[in-house]
Amino acid sequence: MPKSALTIPALLDRLEEIYGRQETGWPVDPYEFIVWWHCGYPASDVACARGWERLTSEVGIEPHRLLKASLAKLASALKAGGMVPELRALRLQEIALRVDNEFGGDLRTALVGPLSDARKTLKKFPGIADPGVDRILLFAGIAPLAAVASNCPHVLVRILRGKEDENYGANYRAAQQAIMAQVPQKFDARSRAYLQLKRHGQEICKRSYPKCEKCPVNSHCAFFAGQRRGAALS
Ligand code: SF4
Repeated sequence: MPKSALTIPALLDRLEEIYGRQETGWPVDPYEFIVWWHCGYPASDVACARGWERLTSEVGIEPHRLLKASLAKLASALKAGGMVPELRALRLQEIALRVDNEFGGDLRTALVGPLSDARKTLKKFPGIADPGVDRILLFAGIAPLAAVASNCPHVLVRILRGKEDENYGANYRAAQQAIMAQVPQKFDARSRAYLQLKRHGQEICKRSYPKCEKCPVNSHCAFFAGQRRGAALS
């Protein structure tokens, strides 16, 4: 165990002192988020923002605009976001077609019923799995879920337990359960947890090479305590 374990809210306070208040850097409307997610590949905030900027200025993102544009024009805009722009252009037209045909151009109205139905609806879109669904529903203000950034579930697992599991799903569920247990089921509290842990994972607690020696919360971290003991981590 670390010298002094922190509760998750106290840990988030500490991270907020370091990184400041975090804001979302992506559109929070469900349809717009799904479009944004396809604007970059490999998907990252930077890649998606680049593709999104070009797409919004050259084509627009409304379903009828995506459907009217040629695949070549879409791919040309999406190139700013990285690899496989042609495939992403096709995906965008699939998304736009579905939103237009099935939801009358308004995906949000299809997500207001039971949560299980909203999850099923979102998971039918390409590239959207459980972490994406949690993120969409939380930041769209639909359900205050314990969402965890898809590239950072290891952060909380390391701090609370030590070395993360090799299984991605097990890490994701463990991080979610910890948030569910300690972070109030409120939009602002759950969003803050998502954003601060994501930032920490991007800056310091990187998946492959965490910078533990310079980490500002290392004295509260089970992973770091295990390393220092030189003992096998569990
Ligand atoms: S001490 Fe290392 S493992 Fe723990 S939170 Fe900091 S960077 Fe991550």
